[in-house]
Amino acid sequence: MLSEANGSIAGAGALLKILRDGQARTRAELVQLTGLARSTLGQRLDALLSQRWIVPTEEAISSGGRPAVAFTFNRGARIALAADLGATHARVAITDLGTEVLAERADEVPIDRGPVETLTWLQHTFEEMLAETGHTRDQICGIGVGLPGPVEHSSGRPVNPPIMPGWDGFPVPEWLGERFGAPVLVDNDVNIMALGEHWAARPEADHLIFVKIGTGIGCGIISDRHLHRGAQGAAGDIGHIQVASAADIVCRCGNLGCLEAVASGAAMSARLSADGVEAADSRDVVRLVRGGNTQAVQLIRQAGREIGDVLASIVNFFNPSVIVVGGDIAEAGEQVLAGLREVIYSRSLPLATQHLTITASELSDRAGVIGAAVMVIEHALAPGTVDQAVTRDRPRDTMGVAADHGTP
Ligand SMILES: [Zn+2]
Repeated sequence: MLSEANGSIAGAGALLKILRDGQARTRAELVQLTGLARSTLGQRLDALLSQRWIVPTEEAISSGGRPAVAFTFNRGARIALAADLGATHARVAITDLGTEVLAERADEVPIDRGPVETLTWLQHTFEEMLAETGHTRDQICGIGVGLPGPVEHSSGRPVNPPIMPGWDGFPVPEWLGERFGAPVLVDNDVNIMALGEHWAARPEADHLIFVKIGTGIGCGIISDRHLHRGAQGAAGDIGHIQVASAADIVCRCGNLGCLEAVASGAAMSARLSADGVEAADSRDVVRLVRGGNTQAVQLIRQAGREIGDVLASIVNFFNPSVIVVGGDIAEAGEQVLAGLREVIYSRSLPLATQHLTITASELSDRAGVIGAAVMVIEHALAPGTVDQAVTRDRPRDTMGVAADHGTP
């Protein structure tokens, strides 16, 4: 049961939400903005100050009077640990609460080594980076991890991931949570890329589709400014939609005719290799395109049209205002965007394409790691989570947060 004091500080999370825009505000401004009684506001500010979520600053008054104390969001109050684990490479970062990167590493880490070896590497990398930036474990607000396969949202566990042997059902949140004593959130890589791109580059877009074209093809969906995961977390898996041109090609999922089987980086590198052009993966395909290899250029343009064909239906169905294209293959830029645009604008309804922007990812290979940080920060700063922390009325290092896979 909440005591009277706890009852009035329980709205501290909502107050923090107002201050998160970074603008400093005085007590008078906050009273006006929230309609709260001055005493209630004072208790909530004290609760946020005691946890260092906000800090006081002195605001000069234009009339030349005594400066009033204002309060501003403290981005340095906590840190987020973020990891984007791909099929063959990984990117890891420590960020502040505004997603500013304080330390970052990128390394070749094949995910098919299995969960224990991969996560042990991640644990050690996080520990080294914490030492490097001088942070301690009690400053961690959470750990966000992106994985290159389907993740069941309710448990944070991978489900039958095709390129991740040994990972099926592995308790990633519990494994990392036990080692760092912080909440752990796990999602598939394209969902976190969509979150990162939306937060950092397209915050004004209400409805956004992030398409990742790499070894495989998938998309992340921002609907009404929130990540849409679907019932089980499988929303956006467009790589296995059937396309006519792939009718007799077997996909890695076992079905015939998937989009991925003709338009992914893996499919293109396999096609080039079969024709005697050296190409081991998506990055080799992009290298060939940049070098002007005619066959690679034709393949990537055709892949753009194939993906555009599937996206044209999605545009009619979902009506996004922005389609962002990321992943290794997107590094080929206009060569892939041209085919995509050509088909989407000719095949989708005029009303749906009237104000539609189709563009390459601004964050590029950092979209995932920034998105993993966003996922964790949004969870940690959600009004409900903040209220829980302040009403516990005890030092933060005894909060006793266990592994957690909630939503931001
Ligand atoms: Zn398939």
